[in-house]
Amino acid sequence: MKKIGILGSTGSIGTQTLDIVKAFPEELKVVALSAGTNVELMEKQIRQFNPELAVMGSLEAARDLRARVADLDVRVLGGMEGMLEMAVLPSMDIFVTAIVGMIGIRPTIAAIKAGKTIALANKETLVCAGHIIMPLAKEMGVSILPVDSEHSAIFQSLKNEPKDKIDKILLTASGGPFRGMTTEQLRDKTVADALKHPNWSMGQKITVDSASLVNKALEVMEARWLFDVSLDQIQVIIHPQSIIHSAVQFIDGGIIAQMGVPDMKLPIQYALFYPDRMPMEGNRVDFFKLASITFEKPDTDTFKGLALGLEAAKIGGSMPTVFNAANERANAMFIRKEIKFLQIGEIIEKCMNHHKVIANPTVEQILEVEKDIYDYIDSEV
Ligand code: NDP
Repeated sequence: MKKIGILGSTGSIGTQTLDIVKAFPEELKVVALSAGTNVELMEKQIRQFNPELAVMGSLEAARDLRARVADLDVRVLGGMEGMLEMAVLPSMDIFVTAIVGMIGIRPTIAAIKAGKTIALANKETLVCAGHIIMPLAKEMGVSILPVDSEHSAIFQSLKNEPKDKIDKILLTASGGPFRGMTTEQLRDKTVADALKHPNWSMGQKITVDSASLVNKALEVMEARWLFDVSLDQIQVIIHPQSIIHSAVQFIDGGIIAQMGVPDMKLPIQYALFYPDRMPMEGNRVDFFKLASITFEKPDTDTFKGLALGLEAAKIGGSMPTVFNAANERANAMFIRKEIKFLQIGEIIEKCMNHHKVIANPTVEQILEVEKDIYDYIDSEV
C-alpha cells in the first residue's frame, strides 16, 4: 500500500487525487492532507480519509479545523511550519504537490531531503527553483513524477530513453478560450470569459494562465528542468482538440506521443502508481468521432505572456521567478477585477525590466525576489 500526503487537497488536483484514492482503497492510503482556508471541505476530507495529519494555510484556520475535528484522532497544524512537518512525515511515501504558487517550493525541498517520492503538479516550484530541486532529487535518489498532463505525456513517451536520444520535445497547448483572437479582441475580456476553458476543467489560477498562455511558458520551463533538455529543444504547438497531450521526437525522426481524453485523473493516477499502469473507467478517445486533429503555431505577438516567459527562461537565473511572481500577482488582480486582461502581460514586462538578474539564486534569494516583485507591483501599478 502506498501512503500519500496531498499538499493542496481541497483544490482541483487535490480533489481528483482523492477520487483516485477512493477508487483504490487496497492500494492507496492518505496519511496527510493540507489546504489553505477551506476548513469545511478539509473537515469532510478528514472524516472520509482519516489522515494522521492535517495542515491549514494559517494558524487561525488550523484552530478552526482543530475545533471541528476534536472528536477525531488527527493532528492539526497550521502555516509553513505545518507544511514543512507534513513534508517529512515518516509514514508518507508519496508527496503530491497540488498547491498553487511559489509557496510549494520549501515543502517540496523538505520532502526531497526526507527521501519522499514527489508527484509534482505545482509547476511554479520547478520554474523558480528547478536548478536547486533537480540536482537535489538526483543526489537524494528521489523520483520527481510529473502530474501536469503535458509532462506526464512526455514522461510516458520517453520511456526512460536516454537524454541524447531526444531530438525535440513537442509541447502541445489547447490555445485556451482566446485562441485566434487579436489584441483588440482581448482588450475587454472578463474573468468569466477567461475561465471558460474549451477542454480542461482546472483551478482558477491555471485557467487564467491558460487563457494568457503564461501557463505554456511555465510548462516550457518545467519541461526543461524535468527532462534536462535545452530550451531550443522544446517546441510549443497549438493543438486545439487537446487529444495529443505532448510528444517526443527522437534523433531518428520517430515521434512518440501520448493521447487520451483531456482528464487530469490519468496523469495523476499514472504518477501515483508509476511504474505500474492501473485501470481507469471513463471516456475513451474515439477516432471515428474525431473529425480532425489540427495544429497551429502559437501567436506570441498577441499572447505576450508566452513570449515574455520564453524570454525569462532564456535569461534564466532569477528571471523565471520574476516572471512567475509578477504573473501570480497580476493573475490574482485580474481575478479580483482590479486590472484588465491585457495588463497581466504589461505588469510582467514591467517587472522583468525592473529586475537585476541573480545568476544562481538560493531559495532565500528566490523568496526575496518574490517579495521584491510584489512590493514593486504594489508601489508602481
Ligand atoms: P486550486 O486553486 O484548485 O487548488 C489549490 C490548492 O492549494 C487548494 O487546496 C488550496 O487550498 C491550496 N492553497 C492555496 N493557497 C494556499 C496557501 N497559501 N497555503 C496553503 N494552501 C494553499 O489549484 P489547482 O489544483 O488547479 O492547481 C494546483 C497546482 O497544480 C498549480 O501549480 C497548477 O499550475 C498545477 N496544475 C493544475 C492542473 C489542473 O488541472 N488543475 C493541471 C496541471 C498542473 P484552499 O482550497 O483552502 O484555498
